[in-house]
Amino acid sequence: MFEKITSQQAIELEDKYGAHNYHPLPVVLSRGDGPFVWDAEGKRYYDFLSAYSAVNQGHCHPKIVRTMVDQANTLTLTSRAFYNDALGVYEKYITEYFGFDRVLPMNTGVEAVETALKLARRWGYEKKGIPAGEAKIIVCEQNFHGRTTTVISFSTDPEARVNYGPYTPGFVTIPYNDTEALSVALEDPTVAGFLVEPIQGEAGVNVPADGYLKACQELCREKNVLFIADEVQTGIARTGKLLCCDHEAVRPDVLILGKALSGGVYPVSAVLADDDIMMLIKPGQHGSTFGGNPVAARVAVTALEVVKDENLADNAAQMGQIFRKEMRSIQSDMVELVRGKGLLNAVIIRPKNGKEAWDVCMKMAENGLLAKPTHRHIIRFAPPLVINEAQVMEAADIIRRSILSF
Ligand code: PLP
Repeated sequence: MFEKITSQQAIELEDKYGAHNYHPLPVVLSRGDGPFVWDAEGKRYYDFLSAYSAVNQGHCHPKIVRTMVDQANTLTLTSRAFYNDALGVYEKYITEYFGFDRVLPMNTGVEAVETALKLARRWGYEKKGIPAGEAKIIVCEQNFHGRTTTVISFSTDPEARVNYGPYTPGFVTIPYNDTEALSVALEDPTVAGFLVEPIQGEAGVNVPADGYLKACQELCREKNVLFIADEVQTGIARTGKLLCCDHEAVRPDVLILGKALSGGVYPVSAVLADDDIMMLIKPGQHGSTFGGNPVAARVAVTALEVVKDENLADNAAQMGQIFRKEMRSIQSDMVELVRGKGLLNAVIIRPKNGKEAWDVCMKMAENGLLAKPTHRHIIRFAPPLVINEAQVMEAADIIRRSILSF
């Protein structure tokens, strides 16, 4: 149906007709399968970005794709003006899967974050009794929760914020991984919620101290403040547990999911909470044309089934340990630090002879592995969770050879 084009042509087209809001590696992908992708000329790569952890179940997972195609041939979109026969089934499945009373379906991660913020404010006014217009949400430095005007209003990254004001008020920023700072901020009785990433992915896989999440949850509970976990990147088995919060047996009051909720085939996001929070939103007070559509609903059920059927959380935990051990054994002064959990990992690159993380990524691409720097000196390594040990070892060898070539 579409004419085949070369990598060079694809790059030229994007360059000429697209907005320049991304700076991709010069690799043009045209096919994917499991942990692999192929470029337009047929060269194979390990995908160690997994579309920012959306493709946890592997590229083009046959079961997920079949579900999507079947549903696309049956019914795609009705809007929520009517019921459809897929949504309720999905709602029952996902709420039982994660152990919450209710789900509110959206599409992208940032929409789910916005939904959680609205819910927390509502709850703050209607349950906690915060005076009108005064509700605050505590957030962390170096957060990444998406790109809407409200969400970038509390970003601390100038790249994400500059000249997009005026900004949405009502956010209090504290350092990440600092329970003392949280404790102080929680003294303000107008705080409705604390929004946090269990590991800060975009900031460069910032892993907080053991016990941080548990302590935050307890502090929030003491002060009657909602603990809101943004697991858009860390959720769905990525860190070696179904949720990153599971590492500390923390059940958030509001849980935000996206990305791998669809296995990367379709934009599906969700907010989960119990009745006392979720039922504060009444008909007409929030919504989305595409949220909860039949394709999204069916795809999400299958994507979540795959996570359990294929034991992806356990595999992520085991493969992650092997991967970090391999990275730590690289004999190069360019490897400053290796950190991560499960298969969400990062290597901090110390520049050498003017060569930086970007150059390492270019060299790895040449050698058949794709990863992208996040910030200047950090490379995130997050392959699909279906990767096996032999593949992890082969990938580690590519990374080692690439770093040692400098
Ligand atoms: N929250 C977190 C923790 C994320 O990592 C991201 C995306 O990287 C988002 C929210 C935004 O998701 P989306 O790009 O689907 O809007």
